[in-house]
Amino acid sequence: MFNYIIVGAGLAGCVMAERIVTVLDEKVLLIEKRNHVGGNCYDYYDKNGILVHKYGPHIFHTNLENVWTYLSQFTDWYNYQHHVLGFIDGEKVPIPFNLNTLHELLPENLAGSLEDKLIKKFGFNTKIPILKLKKSEDEDLKFLADFIYEKVFLNYTKKQWGVKPEELDPSVTERVPIYISKDNRYFQDKYQGLPLHGYHQMFQKMLENPNIKIMLNTNFKELIKVENNEIYFENKKFQGKLIFTGQIDELFNYEYGELPYRSLKFKSETLNKEYFQETGTVNYPNNYNYTRITEFKHLTGQKHEKTSIIREYPKPYNKNKDIPYYPIPKKEYNQLYKKYLEKASKINNLSLVGRLAEYKYYNMDIVTNEALSKFKRVTNER
Ligand code: FAD
Ligand code: UDP
Repeated sequence: MFNYIIVGAGLAGCVMAERIVTVLDEKVLLIEKRNHVGGNCYDYYDKNGILVHKYGPHIFHTNLENVWTYLSQFTDWYNYQHHVLGFIDGEKVPIPFNLNTLHELLPENLAGSLEDKLIKKFGFNTKIPILKLKKSEDEDLKFLADFIYEKVFLNYTKKQWGVKPEELDPSVTERVPIYISKDNRYFQDKYQGLPLHGYHQMFQKMLENPNIKIMLNTNFKELIKVENNEIYFENKKFQGKLIFTGQIDELFNYEYGELPYRSLKFKSETLNKEYFQETGTVNYPNNYNYTRITEFKHLTGQKHEKTSIIREYPKPYNKNKDIPYYPIPKKEYNQLYKKYLEKASKINNLSLVGRLAEYKYYNMDIVTNEALSKFKRVTNER
C-alpha cells in the first residue's frame, strides 16, 4: 500500500514526506513515537498563551538560499536576529566573544592593545576558533586566548558535554568562534528568522496532503524489523523504500554497542512580568547547573503581559528514559557510527537522513539541505 515509509516526523522526516507526495505523487507512511510532529523543533502555546519551544530555543539561520526558499513555501518569517549575553565575572557581555566583549571585560589600555594585535594578525571581521587562538605564539594573544577559554568555553563545555573542549571534535567550539568585529549578533547568516506562526504550523503545512498517513505515538519497532539485510513491515518483506531518521544503533538493535549522546533536562517557568532578561538567551558558563536561559518572547516578538523562560540542564543520556538531543562529535564514536553505516549500506532500500540517523551535530538548515539532496538521490534511483 505504501511505497515509502518514513521513521521520525522531525524536520528530516517532514521534508522527505513533503517532497515524496508533492513531486512523486506517491503515498507515504510517517511513523513517529512522540505525540506530535516536528521532532525537536516542536513549539506550542503554553497554558498562558505564550509561544514556547518544547525542546529548547530554535533559531533558524542559513546561508543556503535553496533551503530558505524551500521552507518559505510553508511559512512567512518573523525577522529575528539572535543576541546572546554571557554572564561572566558578574557582568552580562556579548557572546560570541567579540571586540565589544573584550572592552567590557578587560581594562581599556589592555583591551585596546589586544584589539590592535587581533586585527593585525587576523584582520577585521574575521572569526577565530578558540582552540586555534590558544595556539598563538604571541604572548599577549596567548594570554587573551587563555582568558577567553577559561571564562567562556571551559566550564560551559564541561557542563554541556561532560568533557573539556579539546576532548571533542574542534567543530564543536568552532560553532562559536571569537569574532573580530563589533557585531553582537550570534549568527551572521544571510537568512535568519523564526516561522511567523511557529514551527508547528509550518510542519502542519508541509504535511497537509491526504497521501501522507501519520502514525503518532508509534515506535517503529512495533511495525518494522531488519533481518539479513531485508526490511520487514508488519512481518512481510517490504519492497518500497524506508527512510529512517531515528537512531541508527536502535535500528540495528545495538549490535555493535550503543552510540553515545548527550541529553538535556528542560525547566520552564512563566513569570508575572513583561520581560525577564535583556536578550533572547543568556549563557551561564561558570555559574549554576544550567547552561543558558532563553526567554521566548524575544525570539518570537510576541506581546504578552507575562513571559515564559526555559533553563537547560545538560545530562548524560540514558536510552530508557532520555531524548538523545546531541550526538557527541568525537573520533572514536564516529568510528562506531561507521560500522553501523556499513551495515546499513548493504540494505538497498534504506536511506538515512537527519541528526540521529547520520549521527551529526546538524543545524536545521543542514538537515533540510541533506533531506532535499537525499530526496533527489531517491528519485534518481527509481
Ligand atoms: P529530530 O528532530 O530528532 O527528529 C527525529 C524524530 O524521530 C523525532 O521526532 C523522534 O521522536 C523520532 N524517532 C526517534 N526514534 C524513533 C522510533 N524508535 N520510532 C518512531 N519515531 C522515532 N538547529 C538550528 O538550526 N538552530 C537552533 O537554534 C537550534 N537549537 C537547538 C537547540 C537544542 C536544545 C537542540 C537539541 C537542537 C537544536 N537545533 C538547532 C538542532 C535541530 O533541533 C536539529 O537540526 C533538527 O531538529 C534535526 O531534525 P531531525 O529530523 O534530524 O531530528
Ligand atoms: N560554547 C561555550 N560557551 C558558550 C557558548 C558555546 O563553551 O558561551 C561551546 C560549548 O561547547 C557548546 C558549543 O560551543 O556546546 C556550541 O554552542 P552552541 O551555542 O552552538 O550550542 P547549541 O545551541 O547547539 O546547544
